[in-house]
Amino acid sequence: MKDTKYIFVTGGVTSSLGKGIIAASLGKLLQARGFRVTNQKLDPYINIDPGTLNPYEHGECYVTVDGHEADLDLGHYERFLGVETHKANNVTTGRIYQNVINKERRGDYLGKTVQIIPHITDEIKRNIKLLGNKGDFDFVITELGGTVGDIESLPYIESVRQLKWELGKNCLIIHLTYVPYLAAAKELKTKPTQHSVKALQEQGVQADILVLRTEHNISADIRKKVALFCNVEQSAVMQSIDVPTIYRVPLNMQQEKLDEVVLTKMGFDLTKTPEADMEKWTAFVEKLENATEEVHIAIVGKYVQLPDAYKSIIESLLHASAYNNKKLKLELILSDKLTEENVVKKLQKVNGIVVAPGFGQRGMDGKFIALQYARENNIPCLGICMGMQTMSIEFARNVLHYADANSTEIDPNTTHNVVDIMDEQKNILDLGGSMRLGAFKCKLKKGSKVFDIYKKENISERHRHRYEFNNAFKDEFEKNGMLCSGMNVESDLVEIIELTSHKWYIGVQFHPEYSSTVVNPHPLFISFMKAAIEK
Ligand code: GLN
Repeated sequence: MKDTKYIFVTGGVTSSLGKGIIAASLGKLLQARGFRVTNQKLDPYINIDPGTLNPYEHGECYVTVDGHEADLDLGHYERFLGVETHKANNVTTGRIYQNVINKERRGDYLGKTVQIIPHITDEIKRNIKLLGNKGDFDFVITELGGTVGDIESLPYIESVRQLKWELGKNCLIIHLTYVPYLAAAKELKTKPTQHSVKALQEQGVQADILVLRTEHNISADIRKKVALFCNVEQSAVMQSIDVPTIYRVPLNMQQEKLDEVVLTKMGFDLTKTPEADMEKWTAFVEKLENATEEVHIAIVGKYVQLPDAYKSIIESLLHASAYNNKKLKLELILSDKLTEENVVKKLQKVNGIVVAPGFGQRGMDGKFIALQYARENNIPCLGICMGMQTMSIEFARNVLHYADANSTEIDPNTTHNVVDIMDEQKNILDLGGSMRLGAFKCKLKKGSKVFDIYKKENISERHRHRYEFNNAFKDEFEKNGMLCSGMNVESDLVEIIELTSHKWYIGVQFHPEYSSTVVNPHPLFISFMKAAIEK
């Protein structure tokens, strides 16, 4: 068995340069050459995982099939590579320290003083190697969150220094920096890059490859200068220029020869390594870029000021619109501001509505208004998680005429608790879990719309919620045209509802957006988009 190769992606100058996209792009290019690749994200914050973070703080919380609440970059990795990630693909400082402290309490350190070096760094290295040890991957690409120079990043950079020393050619460091353009001087400036490479060197790490984020093309002269100042070969200084879609980035990085330089530096013979086959990817990007006819989709939610809070939903809609040769026009609608007075004005032009996930009371009323409008006007509508729950409540209030229908999350005293914590959930809560998390199997009813969409009876989708559809209402819903068309396989939980008389009105308790990828867009989103386009 060949040794696993470890590649690290660090960032300098500023945050938000798109390390995740560069890491995922390299992963894609290596995968397209036939290698087995996985991407990992190390987050320097103290939270154990992002599950408790407000979406405004850190964007969407992504969920892996094994039920780990993870950084949204894992979503990029899955969308780019089409390979599932797991708990081990995302590690935070909080988890590293928790593991070390647990070991200390167990007496594993045999009375030694527990320190950042070697104990924390050993734990970091163990978590990195965990992915490579089993021999499942040729490459583990690890993205270090944060920016070089941050106090919080120090133990991670130190771990990379040690790994480089241990692994030699099997370890490579890519540093992503920013080259600003000074409009007044009409010049691209490399000084911040020089400083950030130097900051890395001060911590004992020499970058092997530099990727320069830029808004303008970087000339050969500038690359030469950066190479000279930073101890990097000129061929290993590459640009990553602003592009209208992140899905262009792998193709641009292929042009910059990122994969070639990586392989050469890691000792591969390029004459014996196949070129990256990016045919399907390119076809997708061309569809995305060439589509001119617009499809207007509204996302109704309460975190719309920060679109990253709905990252996977937005990307899934993009995949589905490109797949259907349409240009996606998104309207992000703040549910708090949606009222009976303005609903027509805000929604009359949209071709489809997604009612977003979310927790707690705020913005619920706006969701009911959007749902009633979509239901009564035959507008394609997809309710996700809280979206499905609000669909159920709106239906119970306005079709079944239970004026006080609600979720016990919102009103614990309601007599018509259409959404409640069910026994199945109580068991999970008793076991110390806080939510139904990760992938669960679901059986689709033959003859239903969703059966027709998935074209199979058994599916598996990812969950992240506490509350459930209350089965006491199931028969009444079905008699009145709201079919419970997807049921959990192990228990009686309702996972999908669909309005049979409507063009496309489907609510799912799970999150289909977590599993839509570039090469395999999710069937629910494709079908929703088709319905939105149909005249
Ligand atoms: N608030 C709901 C629950 O906990 C929905 C959560 C969500 O939309 N992810 O069940």
